Amino acid sequence: MKTELKACKKCKGLYERDGKKEPVCPDHPDERLTAEWYGFIFIQDPVNSTVASRMGITREGKYAIKVRQ
Ligand SMILES: [Zn+2]
Repeated sequence: MKTELKACKKCKGLYERDGKKEPVCPDHPDERLTAEWYGFIFIQDPVNSTVASRMGITREGKYAIKVRQ
């Protein structure tokens, strides 16, 4: 089964389609998520991750490296 991850343009968070429901970013529910993203990182410990702080990530999860705006 193909997983369809979509990225939030604001925070670059990646979210999975849940059944027939389109994914929604919990921080930016008004933002349309996009399938046009590249790269992939999983942030497990945002508090102690230099990558997370550099990207402004405060929550554990999957993130896109680049999101086409
Ligand atoms: Zn977001």
